[in-house]
Amino acid sequence: QNKPVCGGCNRKMPSLVHTEIETAVKGFLIDQEKMTEVVERMTKEIKMGLAKDTHARAVIKCFVSHVQDLPTGKERGKYLALDLGGSNFRVLLVNLISSSDVEIMSKGYNFPLTLMSGSGKALFDFLAESLSEFCHTHGLENESLPLGFTFSFPLQQQGLSKGILVAWTKGFSCEGVVGKNVVSLLQEAIDRRGDIKINTVAILNDTVGTLMSCAFYHPNCRIGLIVGTGSNACYVEKTVNAECFEGYQTSPKPSMIINCEWGAFGDNGVLEFVRTSYDKIVDKVTPNPGKQTFEKCISGMYMGELVRLVIIDMIAKGFMFHGIISEKIQERWSFKTAYISDVESDAPGEYRNCNKVLSELGILGCQEPDKEALRYICEAVSSRSAKLCACGLVTIINKMNINEVVIGIDGSVYRFHPKYHDMLQYHMKKLVKPGVKFELIVSEDGSGRGAALVAATAVQAKSKL
Ligand code: BGC
Ligand code: MG
Repeated sequence: QNKPVCGGCNRKMPSLVHTEIETAVKGFLIDQEKMTEVVERMTKEIKMGLAKDTHARAVIKCFVSHVQDLPTGKERGKYLALDLGGSNFRVLLVNLISSSDVEIMSKGYNFPLTLMSGSGKALFDFLAESLSEFCHTHGLENESLPLGFTFSFPLQQQGLSKGILVAWTKGFSCEGVVGKNVVSLLQEAIDRRGDIKINTVAILNDTVGTLMSCAFYHPNCRIGLIVGTGSNACYVEKTVNAECFEGYQTSPKPSMIINCEWGAFGDNGVLEFVRTSYDKIVDKVTPNPGKQTFEKCISGMYMGELVRLVIIDMIAKGFMFHGIISEKIQERWSFKTAYISDVESDAPGEYRNCNKVLSELGILGCQEPDKEALRYICEAVSSRSAKLCACGLVTIINKMNINEVVIGIDGSVYRFHPKYHDMLQYHMKKLVKPGVKFELIVSEDGSGRGAALVAATAVQAKSKL
């Protein structure tokens, strides 16, 4: 009996997989009808986020980014950038030399995990310390360079250089930051040190950096997407529709990038029809239960844990691994999302990566049906992620009412999963209105080139005052 798992890849339900496992993952396999329903519901939520009188109670907030200029290719100069909120923390130096020549130097800093749940002061002191170290290494301690801060969390922005943290996501929970202007917290930490002269001129979401960076080379880029540790998208809206922007009716600039913060979609219960019992378990063990429902179905922080929960359920019921459980697989988060990419990278009938993953998890002596089952579970979780992401992008394209668009994309899931791009494309094609053309392009250096481009906009705006 062969049933397609996902359309994008031609994988069929392998005959070696037990019906019990098929039943367990059924909830992840959403069909076309459900996807259309997701698009419909999401369209409503996005409209609520944009509109002034419904914004306060909307779950998809559609925050205004205050970025109204797409790159022209004429931006020049040296900028510093900070990148916080993905799988690593980085400091970057970006030199926009010409429209075809951008120099980027960057250093990743070992981000102590204790900082994720410590005090806000400790977090910002660490950022300032890393920045200072970077500046001293590159002889920049006496230059007063403008800095663009890529801060990948929901922000209520009151300008290009002012953003109030609305909530932490992705496992962060530092005290004393929610409700505060993150730019001041960073600038105060820099000033406390007093050993560098950096000026934070802009704060931006990673999706915005991704869009800007891609638009530098692809002028038709109007959407930025992240499928990494977290998930979110931004797009170019007409300023007149960005009702939460103070001058939305009188602004001389026709467009505004909107940071959708789509991760929160479903926090009001409208996504229950695509969630499973496993999703509810994952949600409970996060520091933000009940929040970021859509993100928890899609992003890299959670996909591996979903697979692990299905596996241990199947082991407990005696349907996998002869009912023998390893110590490692009992540990929360021990099934890394990268394992999903590994397992799905094996050619059909081959198990090289799969064997490696199983041995890292301390599961030995598996037979082929178990390996097929593992792969089937991984496919169920990753294909749901791609389908929901496709729904999100189609919602945005419909809302923009355009016929052609380039989408700039970054994030570990999109980059490293062997079939994510194809699945996304396949499901989007099935959902978009006939005639609409779109292109999915990996966006490089969103938090480098992208952040510098936003900082350049901010410097220009200031010089005009
Ligand atoms: C954050 C977004 C961010 C996304 C991708 C989410 O958890 O709320 O601001 O863009 O992760 O990093
Ligand atoms: Mg990132």
